[in-house]
Amino acid sequence: MMTKTLGYAAQSAIAPLDTFAFERREPGPRDVQIEILYCGVCHSDLHTARNEWKNTVYPVVPGHEIVGRVTRVGGEVTAFKAGDLAGVGCMVDSCGTCPDCREGLEQYCPTFTLTYNSPDPHTGQMTYGGYSNRIVVDQRFVLRVPEKLDLAAVAPLLCAGITTYSPLRQWQVGRGDTVGVVGLGGLGHMAVKLAHAFGAQVVLFTTSPGKAADAKRLGADEVVISTDPDAMQSQANRFDFILNTVAAPHNLDAYLQLLKRDGTLCLVGAPQDPHPPLEVFNLIFRRRRLAGSLIGGIRETQEMLDFCAEHDIVSDIELIPIQKINEAYERMLRSDVKYRFVIDMASLEPKAETA
Ligand code: NAP
Ligand code: ZN
Repeated sequence: MMTKTLGYAAQSAIAPLDTFAFERREPGPRDVQIEILYCGVCHSDLHTARNEWKNTVYPVVPGHEIVGRVTRVGGEVTAFKAGDLAGVGCMVDSCGTCPDCREGLEQYCPTFTLTYNSPDPHTGQMTYGGYSNRIVVDQRFVLRVPEKLDLAAVAPLLCAGITTYSPLRQWQVGRGDTVGVVGLGGLGHMAVKLAHAFGAQVVLFTTSPGKAADAKRLGADEVVISTDPDAMQSQANRFDFILNTVAAPHNLDAYLQLLKRDGTLCLVGAPQDPHPPLEVFNLIFRRRRLAGSLIGGIRETQEMLDFCAEHDIVSDIELIPIQKINEAYERMLRSDVKYRFVIDMASLEPKAETA
């Protein structure tokens, strides 16, 4: 038995996304079925829809910043019941037994299942994501969503929120630290809010001078225009930690030089093509570190959602009907997002006029 589902899919790397009907599994004993209310639009959706990472299987239904209402649960599900709010992020399953899973770091499980464009052990096909009206997910990968926050603005926390929260926690960013955030997009604006909430001195690096005022409103103490060489030079040897969210290849030396001795530049942006080669002496001479980080585990994602509820932190969003998704992608490529598009899933099935 399967459930009819409506979504938006890309059928090829160059085709605009359009309506796509498919089927979801009926909830099994440990599954939660969710009616999707909102889904954030991550740059990873665009990379995947356009096959920029060269691993897309079509049709692809993107979307991994999902907030909705539980409609049904399987017989063994205890943590959720029909009517509850629920969130789903970038993962829908993992092996549960490897060292990474046992540490609650499911995002590093070698055989995890991503929310879309990932082999689906249940169907033998690929997983389909949140640009759709419903989803069925193993209860271990369903998050509790605080009732008190604006639900549309919570959706981006499920990827942009946890992807920035996790490295800021891993490197123990807090009071007394000077932290750089590179790029003020979906991830970057959450990094600014979270690093500020953790008590750090936050400096935003942007290529868009027009975003400076917003950056300060969001929690940045200072803004540096990264295309200005003198402004960049003035920041040398200053930072404990820099989180780089840029979605395009660029010169990493410009940021390595800004780290103190033992400082870390952590990359979360995942461009289509490699960055230009870096100058090894920028690492050697001050024992600096270059690192990466992938989303966050389920336990930490719940911790992040609870932290955001406690501190009234959500994403700054522009709510769009799903029919505007292709336009939203073009704007994202122009860095014209303030600061996350979120799809109102009610637009997928316009209500029939009551005559
Ligand atoms: P986004 O909203 O498009 O933001 C990216 C920002 O980077 C832009 O707003 C822009 O900020 C800056 N930028 C873009 N092109 C640039 C260029 N050529 N040079 C310098 N700066 C540029 O994207 P996002 O959704 O935040 O995602 C960012 C990246 O993270 C993507 O590659 C995505 O796939 C990746 N990602 C990784 C993970 C992970 O787990 N590691 C999770 C989610 C997403 P300014 O206008 O301020 O310069
Ligand atoms: Zn994402």
